[in-house]
Amino acid sequence: MAAQQQHHFRTLSEEHGPFHIIGDVHGCFDELQLLLKQLGYTVAFDEQVQRYVTTVPGSYKVIFVGDLVDRGPNSPEVLRLVMDMMEQGVAYCVSGNHDDKLYRMLLGHDVQIRHGLELTAAQLEPYDQAFRQRLIDFLGSLPHHLVLDDERLVVAHAGLEEHLHKRNSKGVRALCLYGPTTGGKDERGLAVRLDWAAEYCGKAVVVYGHTPVHVPSWRNNTINIDTGCVFGGTLTALTYPEYALTEVPALKKYAESVRPFILYPQHAPHSS
Ligand code: MN
Repeated sequence: MAAQQQHHFRTLSEEHGPFHIIGDVHGCFDELQLLLKQLGYTVAFDEQVQRYVTTVPGSYKVIFVGDLVDRGPNSPEVLRLVMDMMEQGVAYCVSGNHDDKLYRMLLGHDVQIRHGLELTAAQLEPYDQAFRQRLIDFLGSLPHHLVLDDERLVVAHAGLEEHLHKRNSKGVRALCLYGPTTGGKDERGLAVRLDWAAEYCGKAVVVYGHTPVHVPSWRNNTINIDTGCVFGGTLTALTYPEYALTEVPALKKYAESVRPFILYPQHAPHSS
């Protein structure tokens, strides 16, 4: 069943929250644990079954915006924790471009092992085939976007324009994972990204990551919560529906950022 899901969105209308939505983790396992602790979760490792057991504050669930892996120091344990939380029914996750590339590598596809994937591949070496198979099933099951709370909330790794919400196609999936680009490359050879959120005028709140920002700020009912932890920034959680931000600083700078962080002009907090 798993491998087909990846090409779908998932609707969870009856999930009204409250949620903690967490930005790009990129293998920053220590910071993820610190953030969860700060939010009131407890995480314990059960040696017997090699699984994390999580308790949650109240009725909260976690939603990850994707890019769990690459560049950081411990992608395998981030994956294990997220998989275990999902199996416990206390977390959801959408696929990010890095998660998808790891998935394709694990399937044996010919992918370029760079941009931090070389670190994840090395970190996975001590793990057995059963764990790798579990990763394949998990990564293959991740939707490209989630629609929650009676369509009031959309979570997609790189965000998503309103008219593409609840749509399935290769193009929509690519937009969820990579965001819109001009088709051109910049002086560093990176795809030039388009600022879809500047034009957004949808009713649903869209929470996303993908492009590191110094400070999350509301723009037209959207908010980017990737605060570049792996690049020495912070790991951020957004509560829903109260829209409070919680962040923990990176314990160190694990990678040089390839793009400058975006600094948006500050707006008044979301209100509606
Ligand atoms: Mn990312």
